[in-house]
Amino acid sequence: MESIWSSTCRMKERESLKGDIRADVAVIGGGMAGILAAYTLEREGVHTVVLEAERIGGGQTKNTTAKITSQHGMFCRSFIEKKGRETAEKYIQANQAAVEEYKKIIYREKIDCDLEETDSFVYSDDEGSLILEAEAASKLGAPASLVRKLEIPVPCAGAVKFRGQAQFHPLKFLEALKEELTIYENSPVKEIEEERILTAGGSVKADKIIFATHYPFVNFPGMYFTRMHQERSYVLALEGAENIKGMYIGSGPDPLSFRQYGKYLLLGGKSHRTGENKDGCRYEELREAARRFYPRSREAASWSAQDCITADQIPFIGQYASDRPNWFAATGFQKWGMTSSMVSAMILRDRICGRANPYADIFSPDRFSSEEIPQIMKDSGKAVKGLIKRFFHIPGDTVNLIAPGSASIVETAEGKVGVYRAEDGRLFQVDIVCPHLGCQLAWNPDERTWDCPCHGSRFDYEGNLLEGPAQDGIRLECKAGASLG
Ligand SMILES: Cc1cc2nc3c(=O)[nH]c(=O)nc-3n(C[C@H](O)[C@H](O)[C@H](O)COP(=O)(O)OP(=O)(O)OC[C@H]3O[C@@H](n4cnc5c(N)ncnc54)[C@H](O)[C@@H]3O)c2cc1C
Repeated sequence: MESIWSSTCRMKERESLKGDIRADVAVIGGGMAGILAAYTLEREGVHTVVLEAERIGGGQTKNTTAKITSQHGMFCRSFIEKKGRETAEKYIQANQAAVEEYKKIIYREKIDCDLEETDSFVYSDDEGSLILEAEAASKLGAPASLVRKLEIPVPCAGAVKFRGQAQFHPLKFLEALKEELTIYENSPVKEIEEERILTAGGSVKADKIIFATHYPFVNFPGMYFTRMHQERSYVLALEGAENIKGMYIGSGPDPLSFRQYGKYLLLGGKSHRTGENKDGCRYEELREAARRFYPRSREAASWSAQDCITADQIPFIGQYASDRPNWFAATGFQKWGMTSSMVSAMILRDRICGRANPYADIFSPDRFSSEEIPQIMKDSGKAVKGLIKRFFHIPGDTVNLIAPGSASIVETAEGKVGVYRAEDGRLFQVDIVCPHLGCQLAWNPDERTWDCPCHGSRFDYEGNLLEGPAQDGIRLECKAGASLG
C-alpha cells in the first residue's frame, strides 16, 4: 500500500538520460541522501548530476516516518561506554547540526513541507536507565531532560526528551529541493568504468561519484555486503486517534514509534531482519497495538520500509574504498536516515570541496578491518548473475499444497524454485537464488515478497526487483513444455 507521503505528493517526472554528458560530481540514487548531497554541492558551485533508477524519493525515503532528530533511540550511555566520549560527542553534534541545517534550508528556501518543530522522546519502563541516559545525553551536549508524564498511552516510567527537533513531509521537501537540480529519472546505473557511469540511454563522465543508493551495489571494492544487514519495519497511519505533538520511540528490542502527521497518527515498529519474517504477522501485531492504545482509531494506510544496519551503529559516510579516491558512499543509516542523509551531504560536500569536516573521521568507511569479513564471503561463489533460468517442472501434488495467497520453496529435479499461488489460483515461479551474491531468498507473507536474509534485496512474487543491493530480478523465463504439474 502507498505511504501517506506518496499519496499526498505527486512528484513531477524528469526525463531519463539520453546521450553522453559531463559533470563535476555524479550522484547515483535520488533518495534523501542523494538529493541533499546534490543540493549541497550545487550551492558550492559544483556541477552535480543525479542518476535515479526509478523516481526521486521512490526508494526507502517514500516510506520513512520522517522524524528529524539527533535522538537515535536510547544510545548516549552505550555510545560513551562502547566508543568513548569523543566519538559519542561528535556523533550527537553531527546529527544535531543536521537538524539545524534542515530548518535553515526549509526557512531559507521557503519550502512548504509541513515542517513542525517539536520535541522527541525515548520512553522506557526502566526509570534507572532513563535517569542515566538523560545524564549521559546532557553530558554530550544534547538538549536533553527527563520527563515523567507522556501524551501517549503507553505504560512507562517516563522518557528522555530532546528539545527543538522536527518532523516534516519528506517528499514535499524533496520535490521543492530538486527543482533546480540536474536529475535523470528512470536511469538505473548498470556499470561504472573508472570515471564514466553507464546507463542504458547514455553515460556521465564525472570527476567524483557519490553512491547514495541506500545499499552500495558495487560489491568489490568496498565489500559493504560483509558489513551491513537490513532490517524491515512496518507503519500504520491511524485516523481518529488522539493527536500528539511530540515524536516518540520506545527503548528495548521491539520499540513502537509514534508521530503525528495532520489527522494521522503514525504507529510504527515490529522490526525484523529482512528475509526473516516466516510467520508474517507484523501488520497484525501493529494492528493489535493500535486497538489496545487507540481503540477508536481507524486504519487509513499501512506500509513498510527497511534500512541498513552497521555492526557499530554508525553510518558509513566517506571514501568508498581505499583504492577509489574519487568514489564516495553514504549508507548504513540505522533507520535514522533523515539526519544521517544531511550529515552525509555536509561531510561529502566538505570532502569534495577540499575542506576539513569535524565529524568526518567517526563516519569514515575505512574504520572497517578486513578481518571482520564473515562467513558470508562463501556465498559469493554461488552468484548466478547473468544466468537465465527457466521454468522448472513441479509435480502437481506439491503445487496443490500451496494455499491461495501463499508461497513455498519447492524442490524439483532441476533444483529449488520459489512458487507463489495468487488468490485466483495462478502460479508464479521465481529463481530462489538472489542474483546479488547467491543467498537463498525467503518468503515474506506480510508483503508477499521474496526477501534476501543476507543483504536485504527484495523481489515481488513475479520476480521483479523491488530493492537492492541486487540489480536484477529473479523472473524465470517460460519455456515450451514448462509445467507446474
Ligand atoms: C519504517 C522506517 C521508518 C523510518 N523512519 C525514520 C525517521 O523517522 N527518521 C529518520 O531519520 N529515518 C527514518 N528511517 C530511515 C530513513 O527512511 C532512511 O534511512 C532513508 O530514507 C534512506 O534514504 P536514502 O537516500 O539513503 O535511500 P533511498 O531513499 O532508498 O534512496 C536510494 C535511491 O537509490 C536508487 N538506486 C538504487 N540503485 C540504483 C542504481 N543502480 N542506479 C540509480 N539509482 C539507484 C533507488 O531507486 C532509490 O531511489 C526509517 C526507516 C524505516 C525502515
